[in-house]
Amino acid sequence: MIKIITKNTPLKEVLELAAPCRCNSCNHGCKFGSGSLAGDDAKNIANFLGVSEEDLKKGFLEETELFNKKLLRPKLIREKGKPYGRCVFFDDEKGCTIHEVKPLECKTSIQCKDYGEELSVWFMANHVVDTNDAESIRQYAQYIKSGGKLIEGAGIGQLVPDREKLRKMLEYGIL
Ligand code: SF4
Ligand code: SF4
Repeated sequence: MIKIITKNTPLKEVLELAAPCRCNSCNHGCKFGSGSLAGDDAKNIANFLGVSEEDLKKGFLEETELFNKKLLRPKLIREKGKPYGRCVFFDDEKGCTIHEVKPLECKTSIQCKDYGEELSVWFMANHVVDTNDAESIRQYAQYIKSGGKLIEGAGIGQLVPDREKLRKMLEYGIL
């Protein structure tokens, strides 16, 4: 049966679609970046590594920003002068060394399935775009305008159903 992923697809179903396997296709991104954490990820990764959440954040995570939202992701080991780098948890031989508890964005980045892109939009719509932040909504509107992939329930009018509020957000009536 073909599974249709919408914004309201529950996390449990999304995780069932997030394949437990690992291969170079999915690992490729780990050499140039890392995926953002959501929900209980920090707690679970800290438990897995046997460190406190505070030490995890200090030693292994860094802040990133997407759609005007501050998120945490595994630190990147950058070569001098380069904005990108490999994930601190990536090992050339073993791949992801926290595979069992890797961040939700990593779990929803699936390269070989036709629903992979939909899972990425699900992550963005549920865990990144902040519907109470006008700047976040404006940046998401820009993403859609430039041809970004959409899934059912994640349209801008569905995220902000109050049309007047949405108009004000988009026209900078709400900063
Ligand atoms: S989901 Fe596909 S591309 Fe990703 S690790 Fe599994 S087999 Fe490889
Ligand atoms: S946490 Fe694991 S899957 Fe995610 S970017 Fe790092 S090595 Fe890759």
